[in-house]
Amino acid sequence: MTAVGPVELEAYLEVERSKARKLEIIFGVWWRHYAVPYGFRWTLFAERSQCPYCGAPLEAPGGSEAAFGDTHLDHMDALSLGGEESIRNAVYVCAACNMAKGRRTFCDWLQQLTPACRELARQIYTDKHGHPPEAFTRKTKSERLTLPRIELQYSEAVLRRLFPVPIVKGPPD
Ligand SMILES: [Zn+2]
Repeated sequence: MTAVGPVELEAYLEVERSKARKLEIIFGVWWRHYAVPYGFRWTLFAERSQCPYCGAPLEAPGGSEAAFGDTHLDHMDALSLGGEESIRNAVYVCAACNMAKGRRTFCDWLQQLTPACRELARQIYTDKHGHPPEAFTRKTKSERLTLPRIELQYSEAVLRRLFPVPIVKGPPD
């Protein structure tokens, strides 16, 4: 199980909250669409400590980008189907579920789960995306606006001067 204490976790979360505030200055209310999951692993881990697909307890994230031991980052809408590389499309799951899910659509995958987990997973998807899984349509991967890393090193005050208004006016697509 996790070796991370509550104080340490809170410190990690505060770093990610600062990053989120900066992204919000730049991208406005749509910032979650543009936030890649790898910079928000503690925020994602804090969402729940069990696999949403089977209920297995999850280990805390470690050093690697996406996978650490038995805890994997899952893109609910698979990247290969045009799913978004963003925190709103990402959850931590157990390795077994991640591998079993593969490239299935989220709707197909839900059919493999127990009724209780199916209901929970559907709710998580809908809460995070703002629409139910049936609303997802396959797309070819398109170019996504990305942010030079250097900009997140500026303070929030500097970013507010650089970006007096957000650079995007709506969600991608
Ligand atoms: Zn699982």
